[in-house]
Amino acid sequence: MITKDYLLKAIDKDKTVRITIAHTTALAEEAHRRHDTSATASAALGRVLTAALLMGSDLKNESDTLTLRINGEGIGGAIVATVDSHGNGRAFISNPQADLPSRHPGKLAVGELVGREGYLEVIRDTGMKQPFIGRVNLVSGEIAEDLTSYFLLSEQIPSLVALGVLVDTDLSVKAAGGLIVQAMPGAQDAVLESLENNILSLNSISDVMARSQDLESVLKILMGDMGYDIIGQSPLAFRCTCDRERLAAILANLSREELAETAEQTGRLEVSCNFCGEVYHYDWAEIEELKKQKP
Ligand code: ZN
Repeated sequence: MITKDYLLKAIDKDKTVRITIAHTTALAEEAHRRHDTSATASAALGRVLTAALLMGSDLKNESDTLTLRINGEGIGGAIVATVDSHGNGRAFISNPQADLPSRHPGKLAVGELVGREGYLEVIRDTGMKQPFIGRVNLVSGEIAEDLTSYFLLSEQIPSLVALGVLVDTDLSVKAAGGLIVQAMPGAQDAVLESLENNILSLNSISDVMARSQDLESVLKILMGDMGYDIIGQSPLAFRCTCDRERLAAILANLSREELAETAEQTGRLEVSCNFCGEVYHYDWAEIEELKKQKP
């Protein structure tokens, strides 16, 4: 069992293939717990969050962020994950309770839950005037295939992507993780092919994560007889950027009638963060004070 969430970056000896691999069990479990997701929604959400963290590991500056948004018109609704350059990520799915029966034993119907009629969008905010936005149509809604298509069509990078979340019978996340292999200019087709075969022979990335002691050993299996160097390691964590004060502003912007309505429904003044599910409570005097301060 791998005890912590973290990410490794490696490069082959010929420096033509980059490998990023992540263990995300605790993150995927926290996303499940915070959003109270069904088994299939946990898998979809965990895959998207893992993918965003893998991609976000390339962010360079302190305040850079990367958002991965997937909307396939399925019953799960949109899934959004945002990560920063420190390996912190947060994510939500529009309909966390949506679920579907699995059609294949041991395989959750993620593609069906997500749907495949929509798009995958990557937003890289690196402090420029306009963030970089890349968008492709979904291929299968299974996320990994959709990302492979994104890398090829939007960034012209031949890639291999594997993402997996293993959900236990009590709905907790037993194991989660993923990897992205990217060919750089000059990479031999044969190298990518043999890596693809190695990934296929792993069968399921989440099973491998559940069985392994560390990512280094998973990487070893993946690389087979290919020489490589590990070039980076960093911790990953579920972390949201919401705070009590900022969310209070939402309430302060409501009219007194709207506030009264909100309080009537829930018995108190509260706002919950979409991204992490955290609920913040306020008293009337606090909000009145904020309303007074507004210009
Ligand atoms: Zn939050």
